[in-house]
Amino acid sequence: MDGDEDTTVDVGADGPATDDDGLPQDTATDQSGADDLDQRLSGALERIGHVTRTMLSRQAYAEGVSALQLQLLLRLGSVAAGPRVSDLALELDVSQATVSDAMSTLRRKGLVAKEQDPGDRRNSVFSLTPEGDLLRTRLARWDRPLADKLVALSDADKGEVLRVVLGLVAGLQTDGVINVARTCMTCRFFDDTSHPDGPEPYRCNLLEVAFADTQLRVDCQEHQAPLTA
Ligand code: SF4
Repeated sequence: MDGDEDTTVDVGADGPATDDDGLPQDTATDQSGADDLDQRLSGALERIGHVTRTMLSRQAYAEGVSALQLQLLLRLGSVAAGPRVSDLALELDVSQATVSDAMSTLRRKGLVAKEQDPGDRRNSVFSLTPEGDLLRTRLARWDRPLADKLVALSDADKGEVLRVVLGLVAGLQTDGVINVARTCMTCRFFDDTSHPDGPEPYRCNLLEVAFADTQLRVDCQEHQAPLTA
């Protein structure tokens, strides 16, 4: 910065409204007395959520599908067995009728195929057609702007953020705010008690492998919900 540059700013006669720490008030907080840091953190996560929704919608629009259709195509490409409408509705937190409508549109476009569920003849399962799989590959890059930013973080920082965010997701699932989370922290095979202070504090009891924060799974194909008593 130029040493002669005038950095003073006219803040008006009364000056800006400030918080107890002397910094300007943050509109992410409601000044109600609730924990200020919690509110700003929640506000920051909401910003990230807004950004990801916007990126997802833009990519979907560019490819001629809706945001929900994009999510369904990605979902169909990530699961081994063809999911049912009820499974997809639960995972995406929308009604079965909404999923059915979106699936009908995707089938009309030749992107999705519908078959009888081999395990239950009363139900249907869905899978991607070759055209749907090609589109899914292109749509999977919807998060590129955010991924480009994450590259600059260290693995240690990324692992810590992953652990904290997945911990929040697990807590929200426990409270019933979200329906489905196939993360390590919501899995019956997850053990965080064996070596809590070591570099690999977790253990997957399914595959008997120790692992670190950076390896936590967000959507594991082998995930199983804890057994209920
Ligand atoms: S099965 Fe998957 S989700 Fe469960 S603990 Fe192992 S890696 Fe994590």
